[in-house]
Amino acid sequence: MPAYRRFRDVRRFGPVTVGTYHDGRGRTRHTTACSAPGCGFSADYVDRPAAELAARTHRCNP
Ligand SMILES: [Zn+2]
Repeated sequence: MPAYRRFRDVRRFGPVTVGTYHDGRGRTRHTTACSAPGCGFSADYVDRPAAELAARTHRCNP
């Protein structure tokens, strides 16, 4: 898990949460994280639309 970050523009798509944050080096990053038990999906994206698309199309692995 990444260190604690201050997210903004947090939105949920089903079980997946998308949030935007600054990485501390002047860049904006967008992360997705699935809250379903046992899934563990999470990823960072450079573009917000890419992050939201990934969240919308995410399917949990059993
Ligand atoms: Zn999932």
